[in-house]
Amino acid sequence: MLKKIASVALAAGLLFSGLQVTFGGDFVKANNQETQNQGKVKNVIFMIPDGYNAGYATNYRWYIGEDSSFDPHVKGLIKTHSANTAVTDSAAAGTAMATGHKTNNGMIGVTPDGKEVYSILKAAKRSKKATGLVATSTITHATPAVFAANVASRSDEASIAPQYLENNLVDVILGGGRDYFTSVDDGGRQPEGNLIKEAEKKGYQYVTDKTELSKAKGTKLLGLFAKGSMSPEMQRDETEEPSLEEMTNVAINTLNKNKQGFFLMVEGSQIDWAGHAHDSAWAMTDTAAFDQAVEAALEFAKKDGKTLVVVAGDHETGGMSVGSNGQYDLKIDILHNVTATGDKMASEINSEKSNIREVVKKYTSLELSDSEVEKIINASNTSIAINNVVSDRALVGWTSTAHTGTDLPIYAFGPQSNKFSGLLDNTDIPRIMAEAMKIKFN
Ligand SMILES: [Zn+2]
Repeated sequence: MLKKIASVALAAGLLFSGLQVTFGGDFVKANNQETQNQGKVKNVIFMIPDGYNAGYATNYRWYIGEDSSFDPHVKGLIKTHSANTAVTDSAAAGTAMATGHKTNNGMIGVTPDGKEVYSILKAAKRSKKATGLVATSTITHATPAVFAANVASRSDEASIAPQYLENNLVDVILGGGRDYFTSVDDGGRQPEGNLIKEAEKKGYQYVTDKTELSKAKGTKLLGLFAKGSMSPEMQRDETEEPSLEEMTNVAINTLNKNKQGFFLMVEGSQIDWAGHAHDSAWAMTDTAAFDQAVEAALEFAKKDGKTLVVVAGDHETGGMSVGSNGQYDLKIDILHNVTATGDKMASEINSEKSNIREVVKKYTSLELSDSEVEKIINASNTSIAINNVVSDRALVGWTSTAHTGTDLPIYAFGPQSNKFSGLLDNTDIPRIMAEAMKIKFN
């Protein structure tokens, strides 16, 4: 019925002015969203741009010249504090977002007094749904880990890896961190033996590069594309390493073979690392990679009709501003000429620091002034100093090399997405997801 009214309105609009066509289009959209919101949720795709808040969202919009794929789906704000501080780390923030429990910074899936808590991924698995984790960091890093592991310390990545495979908990595992699945005897960092062989015995297909990933079949997939973390997007070898979008698409297609539905978490891990380093160009290019992954998820969700997509950062990183140095302006376009991270540029500067001008020009096209060169020479951290100079030129400001405690926007699309409206705590997210999927959770 709604559809019929909508199409009449659209047809009427077409007969008249362009303005009314737009009105008709919005009418259809609004009504579809209203109908969708009451629908059943079979699948949840939870996408986390690590370190991202409104400052990143605004800079990124200017950087690409249009809204991101998820901008139109903003629903509310989330509070991010951890159990012991106003400024959370990824482990405590992730634990809240995955389990609904606040904990102290550094802790993975346990309460401050060490009690293990249950995650939304485990709840989905218990309800016979397929499960997946995708990240561009090591796949055993804090944000993916909180969904499928319980350890007192986030640095204990060797203890996190085997927990993913216990009782086939995570069906699709894609990211970096091959070292934590390779035994110490084989040059890796896994004391419990060769987890890759163990996974293959359990029926996982193991892939190590973009081509193998694209040919993946079956329902269980272990893809480890680097010994440590994967490459920053602007330095990624596109013939070897898959993009976050490619990993997301393969994860969705693999998990969607399960008739009971799936839960998938996808992390844009390195936006946070860019923030810590004040690397504005890295922040924008890794946000672009994340945006494309969200676009892929939204495309699937639109066709599927029973998939809820939720996008939210876990905390802000770096205190990124839009405009800086007392100026009412933004020159973000200069970042389009930057082709390497500050870390890479710093690694090419000689011990006499005599080639700063050449290296920075090669990767940014910027001609540095004497005072800018001086700043880089005198800095204790060359990489951050280069990034500060580039950020100053772009008028992107930074206030911290750590996280900050600001509230974050939360975006949602699909059935039940209106449940994410208003001011939420990060602990509300998994409870709302469970409610939307109608699965038992605690
Ligand atoms: Zn984080």
